[in-house]
Amino acid sequence: MKPALIVHGGAWDIPDEAVEACKSGCNAALAAGWSILSCGGSALDAIEAAIIVLEDNPVFDAGYGAHLNFDGRVECDAIVMNGATLRAGAAATLQRIKNPIQLARKILEHCPHMMLVAEGAERFAKAQGIQLCKLEDLVSEAEWAAWQKCKEDTHAAEHHRGHEQGTVGAVAIDANGSLFAATSTGGTCCKLPGRVGDSPLIGCGCYADAEAGGVSCTGYGEAIMKVVLAKTAVDLLRQRAICVDSPVASSGDTSTADLAAREAVHLFAKRTHATGGLILLDRAGNPGFAFNTPRMAYGYVAPDGAFITSV
Ligand code: ASP
Repeated sequence: MKPALIVHGGAWDIPDEAVEACKSGCNAALAAGWSILSCGGSALDAIEAAIIVLEDNPVFDAGYGAHLNFDGRVECDAIVMNGATLRAGAAATLQRIKNPIQLARKILEHCPHMMLVAEGAERFAKAQGIQLCKLEDLVSEAEWAAWQKCKEDTHAAEHHRGHEQGTVGAVAIDANGSLFAATSTGGTCCKLPGRVGDSPLIGCGCYADAEAGGVSCTGYGEAIMKVVLAKTAVDLLRQRAICVDSPVASSGDTSTADLAAREAVHLFAKRTHATGGLILLDRAGNPGFAFNTPRMAYGYVAPDGAFITSV
């Protein structure tokens, strides 16, 4: 099977001055993931490599440079899901993990549970050989400055403008047809300590089912949870997949993935009146994306191998 890869760097009102950095960040993530997939490597390795690049880039709200919580600390959440087994590895409220996706993978592969949080998650990380970093290692200058302003003025919403980059995510299929999806975030700016959004929750911020496709979401977590957005999108892919399989609908519709993405975001907006977006791959590797925010940073590998990125 032909491998496929799509990534995102959040759906928000991304400021003009961050557009180029978001595009090149998505491009670098595609390069990291595609260097693995194009040589026959696994979707899990590719997705981890792509997400690490995005987490390490302070232009995105994940890993280093993530938004700070009310107490001025980074508190990250991440998930990775295997479309073949429907098993996920997820972790939340991490304060000392440089690359939360690495811990999510360890949980996927080596933990009897599917989700760990806070101190227990960090203890498991240590047992798995992941070094804990210092709290300040994850705080970027830009986020610290934004947080200082918020603090002076009861966390007024206008201080959040200008640093509205987002959560990161990726979906990959490898040559063997293995499908994985992942999402990693620092959550929303000035969130209450202990707040967990949609991102690390199976079905909300991420879902993968090899029979239909894989999805990673971004946007207002509290609203995304209400409609279980990632699973909703995968269900739409499944319905379409059934249609496409049936003789009546075998007319070669190539935009199944995009239609499912658009329909999912439409349902989300209609039922919650909130904003967000998502990326997906259908089970054949066709990319789809949709958002109702002013912008979303995303990128995918086109059939000819070219990297398409946009904000
Ligand atoms: N969905 C994330 C959250 O609510 C934020 C984002 O997508 O940027 O934690």
